[in-house]
Amino acid sequence: NPDFDVRSAARNWDVDKTTTATPVELVSSLFASDVLTLEQLKTRLSKPAYKSLQATVERGEQLDASIADTVALAMKTWAMEKGATHYTHWFQPLTGSTAEKHDSFLNPAGDGVAIMSFSGKELIQAEPDASSFPSGGLRATFEARGYTAWDPSSPAFIIRHTNGATLCIPSVFASWTGEALDLKTPLLRSVEALNKAVTPALKLFGASEGTRVGSSLGAEQEYFLIDEEYYYRRTDLVMSGRTLFGAQPPRGQELEDHYFGAIPDRVLSFMTDAEMQLYALGIPVKTRHNEVAPGQFEIAPIFEDSNIAADHQQLIMQVLRTTARKYGLVALLHEKPFAGINGSGKHCNWSMSTNKGENLLDPGETPHENMQFLFFCAAVIKAVDEHQDLLRACVASASNDHRLGANEAPPAILSIFLGSELTDIFDRLVSGQGGSGKSAGLMGLGSSVLPEIPVHAGDRNRTSPFAFTGNKFEFRAVGSSQSISFPITVLNTIVADAVVALTAELEAALEGSDLDAAVSKVVRGTYQKYQRIIFNGDGYSSAWHEEAERERGLLNLRTTLDAIAHLNSEKNAELFAKFGILSGRELDARQEIMYDIYFKTVNIEGETTEYVAQTQILPAALSYLAELGQAGGGRAAQGVSQEVGGVTDELYDALQKLREHNAALGGDEVHEKAHHMRDAVLPAMSDVRGAADRLERLVAGKFWPMPIYRQMLFVK
Ligand code: ADP
Ligand code: MG
Repeated sequence: NPDFDVRSAARNWDVDKTTTATPVELVSSLFASDVLTLEQLKTRLSKPAYKSLQATVERGEQLDASIADTVALAMKTWAMEKGATHYTHWFQPLTGSTAEKHDSFLNPAGDGVAIMSFSGKELIQAEPDASSFPSGGLRATFEARGYTAWDPSSPAFIIRHTNGATLCIPSVFASWTGEALDLKTPLLRSVEALNKAVTPALKLFGASEGTRVGSSLGAEQEYFLIDEEYYYRRTDLVMSGRTLFGAQPPRGQELEDHYFGAIPDRVLSFMTDAEMQLYALGIPVKTRHNEVAPGQFEIAPIFEDSNIAADHQQLIMQVLRTTARKYGLVALLHEKPFAGINGSGKHCNWSMSTNKGENLLDPGETPHENMQFLFFCAAVIKAVDEHQDLLRACVASASNDHRLGANEAPPAILSIFLGSELTDIFDRLVSGQGGSGKSAGLMGLGSSVLPEIPVHAGDRNRTSPFAFTGNKFEFRAVGSSQSISFPITVLNTIVADAVVALTAELEAALEGSDLDAAVSKVVRGTYQKYQRIIFNGDGYSSAWHEEAERERGLLNLRTTLDAIAHLNSEKNAELFAKFGILSGRELDARQEIMYDIYFKTVNIEGETTEYVAQTQILPAALSYLAELGQAGGGRAAQGVSQEVGGVTDELYDALQKLREHNAALGGDEVHEKAHHMRDAVLPAMSDVRGAADRLERLVAGKFWPMPIYRQMLFVK
C-alpha cells in the first residue's frame, strides 16, 4: 500500500544528535577553522615568504616559485594538525562540477619507516589523467595529458568525511599546450580584465593610486528535499535528477502556504548541520527559508569576491548533497525536478567593488558617488543589451530549458528590471529635467545637470531575468545545478567591454566640459541607445514576449541549442579574445562540450523514459487490466477496463516511437545528435509521459510502481 510508506518515510530519520556550536563558539572558533587563511599562514611562514605570497594573493602579482617549498611545508603541517592524511588539487573541469584526485602525504623512507611529506613541486603542479575530462577537442588524442596548477588566490581548505580529512588546494586545469580545460582559468582572467577596464574610468572620477577593482558575488541556491526512500524507488530521479513521470498532485503550490513557512524539524536539523560545516569552511551562509514550491528550500551566503564565491558555491552544493543523506533525505539541485511545480534557480547577485570596499553599483551618499554610479549602471545596461546572446548561452543547459524556455520565471528573453525610481532618473536625464525624482525621500544631488537618486530603490520584480536590486544586479536565469563560474566570467567580461567603450566616450566628452556635464552626456546617450533592454513589467506575460521580439527586437533563444549556437559567433569570439579570456579554440571547445552534455543528458533521459515505461509502467497497467478482467462483466469493471485499456494502448504506441528515436541518434556529429534529442526524443518522451501520467490517475494504487508527487512533495 503506497500510503503506508508515507508514514514510515516521514519517521525515517534518526541521526545521533549532531553537536552544534554555541553562538560564542561559532564566532570564536568555528568560522573558517578548516580554511588556511593568510592570517594562519602569517604565523607559519618567514616574513619574506609571507610578503611574497601576500603580494600574489592580494595584488595579483606573479607567484614566486622559490617560496613553494616553505608554503607546502606550512600547508602540510596545518593540514595534519586538522587530521588530514591526504591532499588534492581541487579543480573545476568543464563538466560543471569539481574534481579531486587524492594523494597521501605518506612516503616510505626505507626499512619499514614512513614519513609525511609534501613538496613545493607537488603543491604547484599535479597531473591528473586529462583524458577522462571533457576537452572539446583541445586535447589531441596523442597528447592526453593535462595539468592542474595551484591557484594561490583562493585559500586551501579541509574537507572532512566520516573517518578522515583531505587538504584541498584550489587549482586551475589546463592542457600541456596551455589551453584552459576548466571553468576557473577564464574566471580569473575575467576578474583581471575587469580590473584593467574599470580602474582607468575610476581615475577619471578621482580614484586614488593603487585602487583595484573586482567583482562581488552572492548566489542564492534553491533546492528540493525529498525522502531518501522515495528517491531510490524512482529510477528517473536516480538516473537523471528529475522526475520523467508524475501526474500533478491534487494540491500544488496554489495555497501559497509553504513560502517562508515554518521549517520542519528534520529539514531544519539538516540545514543547521550543513551550515556548521559551511561555517568551518569559511563560507558565510546567512539565509535559509522555505521556497515557493512544496519541498523546496533556499540557502544564501553573504556575497564575497567572485572567485572565492565560485569556489564556495561548489562547496555549498556538495555539502547540501552529502549532508541530506545523514537525515534520510536527498537534496535535488536539478532545475526542474517536478513538472508543473516551481523550478529551482541560482540567483547570482553581482556587483563591482574596489579594494577599499567601495561598491561601484551603490548609488551612494554624495553627488559625486551618484555620478559614478550612473556611469557604471549605464555600462551594465549597454553590456546586457549588446550581449543578450552570451548571457542566455552561459546559463543554457538541457535542465535549465525547463525553466527558461517554458512559461516560468525568468523567461529566456534577456531584459533589465531597473525599478520605477531608477528608470525615472534615467528618463529625467534624457529629457534634461534634472531635479527631484518622482518618489519621496530622494536625496539631494546638488547638481544642475543630474537628477536626484533615491536612497533605496524600492520596488521588486520577481519575473525579470536581470534585476537591479538597490546596490547590485541580480542575474536570475542561472540554473540551480550549474557552476556559477562561467556566468560570472561573462558578466565580468561584457561589463569590462562596455566600461572601456564608455570611458573612451567620457574622455572625449571631457574635452571642453566638466565631469558632471560629461557624465551626464555619456549616460544620457547610452540610455537612449539601449533603452529597449529595460523592462519593468511582467516577464511571464505573452504580451511581453510579443513586444520583446516584434517591437524591441530582443533575442528570444528558447532552447539551449538556439542559445549555444551564438556562443562562438564572430562578435563573441572577438570579445573573449580582446580581453584574453578565451581564445577562439578555447571558446569553440566550450561550445562543443555544451552540445555534447546536452546530447548526453537528453539521451539518458530518453533511455530512462523508455526503460521505466516499458518495464515498470506498462506492466503495472497490464496487471491492472488482467485483474479487471477477472472482476466479472459489471458495468464498472468494463468501463474502467476500457478506459485503462485505451490509455495503455496510447502508451504502447508512444513508446514504440520513443524507442525508434532513442535508437536512431540522428547522426554522427554531436550537433546532429543534440538536435535529434531536442526535436525528436524530447517530444517522444513527452508523449510517453502524457499517457503514463494519465494512467497514474487510473491504475489501482497497489499496482503503481513508484512513489508519486503527492508523497514525494509533502512528506517532510
Ligand atoms: P533577495 O531579497 O533577492 O532574496 P537578499 O537581499 O537576501 O536577496 O540578498 C541576496 C544576495 O545578494 C546575498 O547573497 C547578498 O549577500 C548579495 N549581495 C548584497 N550586496 C551585494 C553586492 N554588493 N554584490 C554582490 N552581492 C551582493
Ligand atoms: Mg533574490
